[in-house]
Amino acid sequence: MQKGNIGVTTENIFPIIKKFLYSDHEIFLRELVSNAVDATQKLKTLSAIGEFKGELGNLTIHVKLDKDTLTISDRGIGMTAEEIDKYINQIAFSGAEEFLEKYKKDAASIIGHFGLGFYSSFMVSKKVEIITKSYKEGSKAVKWSCDGTPEYTMEEVDKEDRGTDIVLYIDDENKEFLEPTRIEQLLKKYCRFLPVEIAFGKEKEWKDGKQVETDKDHIINDTHPAWTQKPSDLTDEDYRKFYHELYPMSEDPLFWIHLNVDYPFNLTGILYFPKIKNNLEVQRNKIQLYSNQVFVTDSVEGVVPEFLTLLNGVLDSPDIPLNVSRSYLQSDSNVKKISNHITKKVADRLQEIFTNDRKQFEEKWDDLKIFIEYGMLSDEKFYEKAQKFALLKNVDGQYFTFEEYKNLIQGEQTDKDGQLIYLYATNKDEQYSYIDIAKSKGYDVLLMDGQLDIHFVGMLEQKFEKSRFTRIDSDVIDNLIPKENQNRTNLSEEEREALQEIFKSQLPAMDKTEFIVGFESLGENASPVLITQNEFMRRMKEMSAFQSGFNFYGEMPDSYTLVVNSDHPLVKRILEEEEKECNDSVNPIRSKIESLNKRASELNEAKKDKKEEEIPVADKEELTKVENKIADLRKKQSEIYASYASNNKMVRQLIDLGLLSNNMLKGEALSNFIKRSISLI
Ligand code: ADP
Repeated sequence: MQKGNIGVTTENIFPIIKKFLYSDHEIFLRELVSNAVDATQKLKTLSAIGEFKGELGNLTIHVKLDKDTLTISDRGIGMTAEEIDKYINQIAFSGAEEFLEKYKKDAASIIGHFGLGFYSSFMVSKKVEIITKSYKEGSKAVKWSCDGTPEYTMEEVDKEDRGTDIVLYIDDENKEFLEPTRIEQLLKKYCRFLPVEIAFGKEKEWKDGKQVETDKDHIINDTHPAWTQKPSDLTDEDYRKFYHELYPMSEDPLFWIHLNVDYPFNLTGILYFPKIKNNLEVQRNKIQLYSNQVFVTDSVEGVVPEFLTLLNGVLDSPDIPLNVSRSYLQSDSNVKKISNHITKKVADRLQEIFTNDRKQFEEKWDDLKIFIEYGMLSDEKFYEKAQKFALLKNVDGQYFTFEEYKNLIQGEQTDKDGQLIYLYATNKDEQYSYIDIAKSKGYDVLLMDGQLDIHFVGMLEQKFEKSRFTRIDSDVIDNLIPKENQNRTNLSEEEREALQEIFKSQLPAMDKTEFIVGFESLGENASPVLITQNEFMRRMKEMSAFQSGFNFYGEMPDSYTLVVNSDHPLVKRILEEEEKECNDSVNPIRSKIESLNKRASELNEAKKDKKEEEIPVADKEELTKVENKIADLRKKQSEIYASYASNNKMVRQLIDLGLLSNNMLKGEALSNFIKRSISLI
């Protein structure tokens, strides 16, 4: 028997392995099974080039649990005693101490580079044995054994078959790795697509109402996953099947992209555009990263551009180290190249589908939109490409490219200053009446009802020259797209004043909501009363829901304009009745106000060029008096209008109709409205 010390300059490497090197204990299984796969693949290669002339036979790798041990057995190339010495005993590790000291915190990135894979078994074992026999003719089987100290023993043993058994004596802290369900779960996680069959236990079947083991091996992996095959060998059905293999509970994906790159780096994979139904799924179905079919991670941040993390599927690259650490990824230029390349591929593929099958592209647009908008918002390069195929949808469900839409609206929707006005609605039903008015004017209205649309609209406004986006209910239509010589309202000063007071007095008191009253002449057929909300304020408030820094706007009350249509017969009727009822009491007040106003302006005129001390005291006192009187009279006047208005059910009714068509009439106000409507009928 040979005894010796493992060739590391550090006093004892094992505490370091246990404590620092691996944050995730479970990866030992990945490392050992990968070694078994490598040994098997090597033998296949040797056989293919004729250096190994024996029978390959069944090459299945077996993972087996006993009471205290976990064994991984392969029928690969095996090792001679010299090879164990070389590959296992002499950890190729120059300047180990210095190195470990330096990388203690980020130790995960060392493992792949320094061939410490096998030693990860000591994270979970008090003793490890290697029983191995080389494929080389006349080789003797060897057993290597080490109990977690730098000493090992090596002796000749009997082993019939070529290949390697790695036997782990699981230590007390890691008993979980003796549970079949835990091992099965780990094999499914890390080894699901390894290229050599891996057996764990036996297949089960139902017999006489009981589950019994058959003598067929239970194979846990798919050795030829779709991404390793040629796209030309795969049907759409194959791609969908593979998708469901990855994400069993999900709906069919929208599209997929089969990546196959060999220069300047190696990358294969399939990325799927999923149909997103809810946020839960976004978090659950993640892109999986593989290195030569060995699962590495499903946190791909850094490898894949941020907006593409919403996609599903697999990426496989031997150029990405097995043990990915975040800081490593961020600094790696290869990884950056991969990321840029994926962005480009995704854009090209979308362009291709758009060009070849626009109908299909439009049908899927509503589901695709969130990815594309996210990409355009977050990645300038992607925007450049996507602006050629990104679509805008109008309220009638028609789709346009940016260019097409611009051409569509350019004629009608350019305002008097030459700005192109994009009208949009965020809810087709709630904003129906506004949409209707715009359409009757020959305008087109976009539907912007997606999760990212507020931001998207903001971005397009920056990108499009001489253009503005405005929500359909942010003002009356003629103000949204102002044209030359528009007459705004035909009301006299007195009529305006009267209507203003009448409607103001009947406005509902709503929490955190303000109204102002305005007038427009919108024609007899338009609604008598409309409620609009200023575009700028609304957007700022919407932004405040997403971003800190906009809090100021979030605190502000919602401010609406109640627009009274002075052309409408009902409004005219309110005015006529008001004149009949209020003129007798209002007219004397009005003439008094008028003469007081005259006096006030005389007094103001007189003091205009004087210094404060030059103005006669009597004049000052009179001015104050006159102003107070005017205020009193105005108050009286308001009260007369208010009392008229409160007896006139039509005013309340019109306001409520305005609120109702804006979805703002709720609860008690709604029930009062219904009662009033019935009594009016
Ligand atoms: P790495 O796999 O990164 O080289 P390991 O520590 O996991 O590092 O393994 C060291 C070496 O030991 C391998 O390169 C291989 O030559 C040998 N080895 C490990 N496991 C096996 C095995 N199951 N069969 C044959 N050789 C093996």
